[in-house]
Amino acid sequence: MSVRPVSPRDVLRRGRRAVRAGLLLLWRQALRHRARDVTALSSGRAALVVAPHPDDETLGCGGTIALKRRNGTRVRVLVVTDGRRSHRSAVISADELAAIRAAEIARASAVLGVPAEELVLLGVREDQLTAHYEAVVDAVTAELRTGNFAEVLVTSAWDWHEDHQLVSTAVHEAVGRAGGVARILEYPVWSWVDGPPDPWRALGGVRAGSVDVSSVIGQKRAAIAEYRSQTTKLTDEATWAVMDAALIGHFLGGVEIFVEPAADRVEAQR
Ligand SMILES: [Zn+2]
Repeated sequence: MSVRPVSPRDVLRRGRRAVRAGLLLLWRQALRHRARDVTALSSGRAALVVAPHPDDETLGCGGTIALKRRNGTRVRVLVVTDGRRSHRSAVISADELAAIRAAEIARASAVLGVPAEELVLLGVREDQLTAHYEAVVDAVTAELRTGNFAEVLVTSAWDWHEDHQLVSTAVHEAVGRAGGVARILEYPVWSWVDGPPDPWRALGGVRAGSVDVSSVIGQKRAAIAEYRSQTTKLTDEATWAVMDAALIGHFLGGVEIFVEPAADRVEAQR
């Protein structure tokens, strides 16, 4: 057995990674600390949950969805894209992957207590989201006009994934069009793991709420496990990337954070 010698550059890289992980841990704690506990308030508020891809709703706010449903509160989940681009495979086609992900979200949302008729798959091809932006705004606007929702939960504009940013922007536009009928709360997915582009600056003046989801954490874990295409090597291909236990662990901490949009963004939508 041969062991590759560790170069000074490796040591440096590992050191940088460890420092960054430590800083992000502090950042998450600081955000949690700033967030006001809205657990009781949230459980009675009807919500439209908007997810760019199947799984974002479960990772970012699956516990909050489960708590609302346990309380008999209405939750409608609108998933924008079909998630066909999460993996490239020589074994299954993008169409097959999209079908698998549709089945996964149907099971995951059922685990969270969302009735089948409250799950809306918009089915925008993941590689064509930009071209369908207006259709997304229209669809969310129509839901808001008919749904009587107190809240719209959507992925955070802090997330580095451009689909998450685009869907967040579409929701802001839709709420503006519908006459500001519901408050927007943004749930971090990738920014919860990797931080916003400028984490400490983002924290300045931020308004956020936290929901204690520890009583439904088993349900959230079970819902995440339904996403086998994301959590297991579905095709046994070496290139099939999975969300490992460490990554999933970020979403099983017992608290979900919702960031209220910055005032300048609210102004922009008016
Ligand atoms: Zn996503």
